[in-house]
Amino acid sequence: MPSQYAYFQKQFVPLPEAKIGIMTHAFNYGTACFEGVRGNWNEDEGQIYLFRPEDHFRRLAKSCRILKLDLELSTRELLDITLKLVEMCGYKEDIYIRPMVYKSSEEVGVRLHNLQSDFLLFVTPFGPYLDVTKGIKCCVSSWRRVDDNSIPARAKVTGLYVNSALVKTEAWENGFDEGIMLNQDGHVSEGSGENLFLVEGNRLITPPVYDNILVGITRETVMALAKNELGMETVERTIDRSELYIADECFLTGTAAHVSPVTEIDHRPVGSGEIGPISGKIQSLYFDVLKGKNPKYMDWCKPAYSRQFDKLPTGL
Ligand code: PMP
Repeated sequence: MPSQYAYFQKQFVPLPEAKIGIMTHAFNYGTACFEGVRGNWNEDEGQIYLFRPEDHFRRLAKSCRILKLDLELSTRELLDITLKLVEMCGYKEDIYIRPMVYKSSEEVGVRLHNLQSDFLLFVTPFGPYLDVTKGIKCCVSSWRRVDDNSIPARAKVTGLYVNSALVKTEAWENGFDEGIMLNQDGHVSEGSGENLFLVEGNRLITPPVYDNILVGITRETVMALAKNELGMETVERTIDRSELYIADECFLTGTAAHVSPVTEIDHRPVGSGEIGPISGKIQSLYFDVLKGKNPKYMDWCKPAYSRQFDKLPTGL
C-alpha cells in the first residue's frame, strides 16, 4: 500500500493528520475553489503523467479571483508541490489530484472579505468515473444550471457543486448514468461534471462559455484533437434541448469522465444507439495522449516520477 500524504498548512503531512476545524468558513459556507487533475499511470514506462496540470492551476487562479481567495503560490510552485506529493505517495495506478484554496478562518459570518485563505492538496487512486467502454444513458435534469449572476459556473467553487450533486443523484435514482443541465433559459449547458459535445456531420457542436459551463480543459483538448487529427471544426453555439434527440452522436468530456460516449438521452437512442465512429476515434486519440503515448502532445503530460518507478526507493 503506497504511503498517503497531503500538503496542508504549508507542509507535507501524513494524510490522517490533514484535518480542518468544524468552524472553518469554507466548510460552513462552501467558500473554496478547487481543481481535479488526473495522473495517468503508464505501465510500460512505470510513470505517472499529470495531464495539463499548469492549465488546471491557471484555472484555479481565475476561480480564486472570482471568490476573493488569496492564492499565494505561482503555477510553477503549485506544480512543484504537486509533483513532490505524487512522488511521495508513489501510486502505480491512475490517480486524482485535488488542489483546493479555501477560506480557512474559523469564523461565523457569510461573506468573502476579511478572511484568511489557505491551500491544500491531496491525491487519491481514481479509476474510471463513467463507463467509457459501452456508452452511457443520460437524462435532461429537472434541475437548472446555476446562472453566472447567481454562482459563476466558470469558477470551480465547492458550494456550486450542490447544483451538480442534485443533478447527479436525480439521474442515478431514476436509472440514468448522468444528468444534462439546461440553463435558466432552457438551453443545454453541461453534465453534472462534464462538458457536452454533439456530432453533426463533419463538425462538433458544444455550448459556448456564456451558457454557464465550466470552461473544461478536456473540452479544449478534444477541440484541438478533433481539429488537428480529424480535421473537424468545433462550433460553439447555444444548443436546444431537442437537438440532443436528433444528433448523430453525443459525448461528455471531463477530467474524471474522460471522453464518455452517450448512447441514450431521455430514453431515445443517440444516432444508432451504439458508440459512434467519431466519439470512438476521439476517445482513443484522447487516451493515447493522456498516457503520454503520443509524442506530438507530450507538452501536456508532466511525468511525476523523476526516475523509473521500480527504481524509486521503497518506504518513502
Ligand atoms: N463541467 C463541470 C461542472 C465539471 O465539474 C467539470 C470537471 N472539472 C467539467 C465540466 C470538465 O472540466 P475539465 O475537462 O476541465 O475537467
